[in-house]
Amino acid sequence: DNWLVEVKGLSKSFSVQKGLFGSNKYLRAVNDISFGIRKGETFSLVGESGCGKSTTGRLVTRLLKPDEGEVWFDGHNISGLSDNAMRPIRKNMQMVFQDPYASLNPRMKVKDLVAEPLIIHTKLSPKERDKLAAELLETVGLSAFHAERYAHEFSGGQRQRIGIARALSVRPSLIVADEPVSALDVSIQSQVINLLQDLQEQYGLTYLFISHDLSVVEHISDRIGVMYLGSLVETADKDALYDRPLHPYTQALLSSVPVPDPSRKKERIILKGDLPSPVDPPAGCRFHTRCPSCMDICATKAPVFREIEAGHQVACHLYDEAIMKTGGAAS
Ligand code: SF4
Ligand code: MG
Repeated sequence: DNWLVEVKGLSKSFSVQKGLFGSNKYLRAVNDISFGIRKGETFSLVGESGCGKSTTGRLVTRLLKPDEGEVWFDGHNISGLSDNAMRPIRKNMQMVFQDPYASLNPRMKVKDLVAEPLIIHTKLSPKERDKLAAELLETVGLSAFHAERYAHEFSGGQRQRIGIARALSVRPSLIVADEPVSALDVSIQSQVINLLQDLQEQYGLTYLFISHDLSVVEHISDRIGVMYLGSLVETADKDALYDRPLHPYTQALLSSVPVPDPSRKKERIILKGDLPSPVDPPAGCRFHTRCPSCMDICATKAPVFREIEAGHQVACHLYDEAIMKTGGAAS
């Protein structure tokens, strides 16, 4: 396989203070996850807010250092590299964020926003940077005429185009897009998704696309990973995931996605209970407090994440061999 990114057993915790006199506790934001992203594909990470998908994006681009596990980029283990050693690699992995309002400096002209990464990563002259910025603005569907204006003069969708032009400026091979369309109107969302797909073809880009919304990722994804409370619970090709979701959490998420074709409509699965705190996650399978298929074993033993059919991995005791043979009675 032609992996651009390989993530192996990645974990990351943050310390959090519990109450004024509370002791420090640890929030295990990412819990021993493994996946790969092939060159030229879009791999999406999906899950509710707080499931660890943004932290994973920051670990992949090494904005954060992992506590355990490894990130391989284009055949090199980048997990332990110093910031200096990371600099030439970082040029190849750019991020696009959810909120273009927050990520773009309102006091900078658009041409300078777009060209800013070029100052860090290239030796281009100011004139060359201006020329490239104007070309990039056209590439993302704006015009060179916009270059002298300020970010606050643009709509949300236009600002996201500016953010994308900025990410593209240094010709990265990987773009990590963290909820890139979540702040936009639905009609604008599809325009930005289409733009991302066009750019992927044009530049051979690889995407790690992060979203809480399975209806947003359906059109752009080649493969999808589903996260719950810091753990990766299922990964599969897009079609396999939508047609044959194996994990009860994925099944519940998909049951709430609106589908235009009524014959594909599944009965809505309402999960009981609230999302547990990631500071004190449930023992065993982290999903067991809400799982409609929970068995005795699930409360004590964490399921192993493994391949059930080619390219389709899941972490769930329902697919343990002994349990599959007896239809669940083994517990
Ligand atoms: Fe549900 Fe058990 Fe599977 Fe967890 S391991 S998803 S609790 S059936
Ligand atoms: Mg997030």
